[in-house]
Amino acid sequence: MSKKILVLPGDYIGPEIMAEAVKVLAAVDTQFGLGLELEYGLLGGAAIDETGVPLPDETLERAGAVDAILLGAVGGPKWDNVERHLRPERGLLGIRSKLGLFGNLRPAILYPQLADASSLKPEIVSGLDILIVRELTGGIYFGEPRGIRTLENGEREGYNTYKYSESEVRRIGHLAFELARKRNKKVCSVDKANVLEATVLWREVMEEIAPEYPDVELTHMYVDNASMQLVMRPKQFDVVVTGNMFGDILSDTAAMLTGSIGMLPSASLDKDGRGMYEPCHGTAPDIAGQGKANPLATILSAAMMLRYTLASPEAADAIEAAVSKVLDQGLRTPDIHSEGTQLVGTVEMGEAVVAALAS
Ligand code: NAD
Repeated sequence: MSKKILVLPGDYIGPEIMAEAVKVLAAVDTQFGLGLELEYGLLGGAAIDETGVPLPDETLERAGAVDAILLGAVGGPKWDNVERHLRPERGLLGIRSKLGLFGNLRPAILYPQLADASSLKPEIVSGLDILIVRELTGGIYFGEPRGIRTLENGEREGYNTYKYSESEVRRIGHLAFELARKRNKKVCSVDKANVLEATVLWREVMEEIAPEYPDVELTHMYVDNASMQLVMRPKQFDVVVTGNMFGDILSDTAAMLTGSIGMLPSASLDKDGRGMYEPCHGTAPDIAGQGKANPLATILSAAMMLRYTLASPEAADAIEAAVSKVLDQGLRTPDIHSEGTQLVGTVEMGEAVVAALAS
């Protein structure tokens, strides 16, 4: 049976890194007889240039019809001055919410070969393997009312609404517990229940569903402490589950524990496990067009797609092993380069992964 993938390369380094991920997908398709069918679409700045909007109806329709979506990254200075509702990021938020992609999985894994790339001491981070599960379609990023208004005294006021319904917390909680079952069986739920009522409810609901997973340990942590613990003793965490805004911030911190954002994949899943897969980083306009971007985060996102949505764990394993092999060979893009390793560009890195798959 064929598996349809919508590829959305996006902007700046997006098309460069995506080209390498597509080569890797073609290689595992042949090797494992997966029957992958790739089609391409527009999102973000590329879509604005072509159609005037960041999320064209055609992209949304096709996204709803395929098995999985692989995205590069969107946005950049070229579109900084377009109206707010037409910004490239709106395309991204729109596709996530329209497809109901509520569960964002961001693994922070430190490859032992890159222990030196972390800004933390190797003994604190070596062997790190955390999975941050971030709620993606609710919370303060979507809460209404929101806006900037002028008060009676003439002063302007910006306001947003932080809210979570019970069912929203329940579904992200279940996802976190299920994932923890396949890992080290620990869930740490991060909130700010000492200050925010919305997260008092969050904590209560997490407690309510915990008895359904007696094999998984549930703990709670305030977000300020979690940010501190992440850099102090990151290996205490297995699965961290949290809301949209806290997850946005903590997952970037976790990303930096691993040395380079260019190494980190992510998945955004709907209730049926269908999903969109993308690197954690943005479009890196500062290095676009120079052949310097690290394609590994996108290649590893393709591996997550094979594992979580396309039910091809053996192909996912093969890609991850091939990435580890090229790191063993000492190949490094500039973002992860250190003395004694071999500097390579985007294309060489992608081709090395393809070669490692075959060997
Ligand atoms: P960024 O992640 O694009 O870049 C931050 C730094 O990391 C830069 O120095 C960049 O060169 C480097 N970097 C990022 N990816 C890399 C890679 N694969 N290889 C090597 N180095 C890499 O973040 P930013 O500069 O804050 O944002 C740039 C644009 O990307 C903005 O328009 C932002 O809105 C957008 N953005 C998009 C997404 C997304 O599409 N999911 C996410 C974050 C930012």
